[in-house]
Amino acid sequence: MSPLLADHAALAGADVARQLELLAAPLRGLKVVHVNSTRRGGGVAEILEQMVPLMGELGLDASWEVMEGTPLFYRCTKQFHNALQGQDVTLGEELAAYEQVNADNAARLRPLLEAADVVFVHDPQPAALLSQVPRRRGKWIWRCHIDVSHPFRPVWRYLRPLVAAHDASIFSLADFAQQLPHPMFLIPPSIDPLAQKNIDLPPEEIDACCQRYGIDRERPLAVQVSRFDRFKDPVGVIRAFTMARAFVPGLQLVLAGGGAADDPEGELVLAAVQAAARKLDDVHVLLLPDEAHRTVNALQRAADVVLQKSIREGFGLTVTESLWKGRPVIGGDTGGIRLQVVDHQTGFLVSSPEGAALRLRYLLHYRDERRRMGEAGHRHVLQNFLITRQLREYLTVIHALVRGAMDRIELA
Ligand code: UDP
Repeated sequence: MSPLLADHAALAGADVARQLELLAAPLRGLKVVHVNSTRRGGGVAEILEQMVPLMGELGLDASWEVMEGTPLFYRCTKQFHNALQGQDVTLGEELAAYEQVNADNAARLRPLLEAADVVFVHDPQPAALLSQVPRRRGKWIWRCHIDVSHPFRPVWRYLRPLVAAHDASIFSLADFAQQLPHPMFLIPPSIDPLAQKNIDLPPEEIDACCQRYGIDRERPLAVQVSRFDRFKDPVGVIRAFTMARAFVPGLQLVLAGGGAADDPEGELVLAAVQAAARKLDDVHVLLLPDEAHRTVNALQRAADVVLQKSIREGFGLTVTESLWKGRPVIGGDTGGIRLQVVDHQTGFLVSSPEGAALRLRYLLHYRDERRRMGEAGHRHVLQNFLITRQLREYLTVIHALVRGAMDRIELA
């Protein structure tokens, strides 16, 4: 077993690592290409950064390509994202930019895409690539990471034929599955416990991080780490903080976020957050650089309670990361947060700033409850949301599609 796999085995169990080896052995040398729209920022990039090397470690010929877009293209795909998560949007000239950028990227990547055995197309941004690669020989999978349970219909009508042309799709939750004419699989995302974002940190590093940002370690701390996106409801978090701190002396709040290269709305939302936080002591709005993995790690570990008060959420890796670190999470009662925040067990599900404030007060008052929920959260992630589990499921899907093993997989 490779040293990396052995490290995973030490955490997830030797049987888990062994299953990966068994599943991967018949797939050695298989060309697997992942395509998404940003190298940094957001959960998809976070997963691919770990998943692609791990596939390589198991002998697959895995690579990761990033779309090269234009401002109009990113405006379009952000509107797609908003629309698929239920918002009404109007699209005009952006659609032509979407199609053009897909055509240009298909031309740029054509040799690779034609030769690939399996292509994972992540989210709507690259969904039109396939129509531009008529001579592909491999299987193409649309991997949807967002909450498409109630899409704005005109946009879904436009995207559906593009998605339907793929050989299969993968959704994070049963609620998100759509009527499509091909096999659909349910695979929730995961975190890599060996990544800088998630490994144990020395206490001095956590202290130093807090000191850098003026956070007092003697006083209670609530943290939300998220891109500045309306669906993450950062302004609602500030409202919850304002209500809770009347009852929790000294309460501090960190709202930490960075931008994603494919998210043109971040600046507007950040401005709204800064305006809401302006007159409040003890609210720290941190704009983190890319690759601030250890800083995010330290902030999540410094937190007494983590918030992820999203209004819509495909999965919410920030929730997984925080539960892994033994922190209870107050999460919006939506999408993938519901898989992870088991109400009253690993945290609390909430639907309003008022609800979040009440749960914050409660958790900050009862240290034992925080510990109990934190431990349950860590176990929940260990059993369900580690990268080894997700990789096993990806390999199984590849077997199903490439080796025609829909009902059973022969590994001998
Ligand atoms: N993240 C980060 N820095 C930030 C904000 C977010 O590293 O300033 C990371 C966060 O730790 C998580 C990912 O970006 O790993 C966000 O994934 P999630 O599924 O929570 O949300 P998404 O941004 O994909 O909607």
